[in-house]
Amino acid sequence: MAQNEILKMLAVSAVNVDRVPGGGVPTLVASDVAAMLAGASRQVMMLAYAKYLQDQQSLVLLASHVYCWSADLAVNEQWRITRGRPIVRNMSHLAVAESIHPNVCLKCCGRGFVRARGCGSCQGSGYKSISDCGRAKVIGVSKSTFHECWRDRYQQIYGYLQQLESDLSITLYKNNHEEELILQHA
Ligand SMILES: [Zn+2]
Repeated sequence: MAQNEILKMLAVSAVNVDRVPGGGVPTLVASDVAAMLAGASRQVMMLAYAKYLQDQQSLVLLASHVYCWSADLAVNEQWRITRGRPIVRNMSHLAVAESIHPNVCLKCCGRGFVRARGCGSCQGSGYKSISDCGRAKVIGVSKSTFHECWRDRYQQIYGYLQQLESDLSITLYKNNHEEELILQHA
């Protein structure tokens, strides 16, 4: 089973804990999720809770962390930033959105509707593959400027999130196999 599927299953079980009919003892609780994530860094935890447990607070913390990471990158690489144009912030937020909700419709932000009407861009599904043109629009630069200078920078930020995702998979794999080892020797 894919490691991420395990987290999703844990999330479902955690949600249903109070709904066990007849007051039965739930087999999976929040502490199980914590055990699965044991040893993970703070930012990997935030990603896991935001993406797989739909935890809004973790999402806000993750977005803020990725923004700081991106701002450091901008300073180190001496990006030329125009005052009043929050390109770095927009890029970091878009990268988080694309990581947490792949192919989210950028017009309705995945809601499926805009001003109480069905979203015409995604036909109400909330999902649509994201083009570079769409990314440029969200970031607030022209398509040509995006290709010239911002696309590679955006890829670096998105790559950082992919690295966190990969660290998460490794953590889940390790913790899952550790349990198998314990069970073998029980
Ligand atoms: Zn839409």
